[in-house]
Amino acid sequence: MATKDRIPLALVGVGKIARDQHFPSIANGEDFVLKAAISRHGRVEGIDNFDSLEAFLATGTDIKAIALCTPPEVRFDMARQVIAAGFDVLLEKPPATTIGEAEALAAIARDAGVTLFATWHSRFANGVAPATAWLADKKIEKVSIVWKEDVRRWHPGQDWIWEPGGFGVFDPGINALSILTAIIPGAILVDTATLEFPANRLQPIAATIAMRTSAGAPISADFDWRQEGPQTWDITVETDRGILRLAKGGAELHIGDSPTEIGPDREYPRIYDRFAHLIRSRESDVDFQPLRLVADSFLRAERREVADFVE
Ligand code: NAP
Repeated sequence: MATKDRIPLALVGVGKIARDQHFPSIANGEDFVLKAAISRHGRVEGIDNFDSLEAFLATGTDIKAIALCTPPEVRFDMARQVIAAGFDVLLEKPPATTIGEAEALAAIARDAGVTLFATWHSRFANGVAPATAWLADKKIEKVSIVWKEDVRRWHPGQDWIWEPGGFGVFDPGINALSILTAIIPGAILVDTATLEFPANRLQPIAATIAMRTSAGAPISADFDWRQEGPQTWDITVETDRGILRLAKGGAELHIGDSPTEIGPDREYPRIYDRFAHLIRSRESDVDFQPLRLVADSFLRAERREVADFVE
């Protein structure tokens, strides 16, 4: 696409995910051009930088699309402000800290006539669309999720993640739930949850959840942030006609015993393809099912205290 036709974009929250994924996907894609960054400490060379959203909005900018890549705790107020200013908005996951906030944002965006895209990056992993298609005509018998990673490796120095609204182990766990709710049709209900909280932290370091499909098939989820060595992000679906396994967070798909060829990783590039499509067609994409499952897990939770977590 000619540079002049690219959509000017601002990004808020120059942190790990902005640097690891958003910047390369925007730069290598054809739809957007990054014009401004808003961050208290982070700076991006070659574009306009602002310390606060207020300072950015006060410039009367003609940028009309924005990606919010801050932690969820501050997302609602920022989103409300930029929607009121007429921006089309991309929300990193999770879209907000509560269902109430998320639904309010969807309503405000609808009333303002702007595009709101509540992203779930794991849904754009290569294996998810073919898995959804393969499962569509099968009877689901059992689903097992094992999502175990090393918090020290993936969230170094991120104190916000342990605070109220930070999600704890549900920060990665919600990615599994976003895939689950994409590949399994219908409602998913939480029956029981056991959450393990380090004695010195306010959010869980591990969770075991028992759920079921609306047809009654059992779904188990085992989230743990204490896994060193190889990391596990697997979802196994047993059906009446074989077993499907998504591995590596959806990047690998196995049907039966064989891996399925699904091409190179395009998770974040696909997110920006979709954002551009939504903006150009004046649509929104707001699905809060993964957030609802997290909320339901906390509502059902039995709390257990475990050893202190010291980074
Ligand atoms: P991060 O490294 O802490 O970066 C977030 C940035 O937001 C910070 O660098 C900070 O920049 C800014 N910020 C604004 N208000 C803040 C506040 N009250 N507390 C802390 N930071 C604040 O976090 P991240 O890993 O990029 O995660 C951001 C979002 O992306 C989260 O919702 C997370 O779930 C999601 N995500 C993360 C990953 C991952 O692998 N890390 C993957 C996918 C999605 P300034 O200090 O410069 O303002």
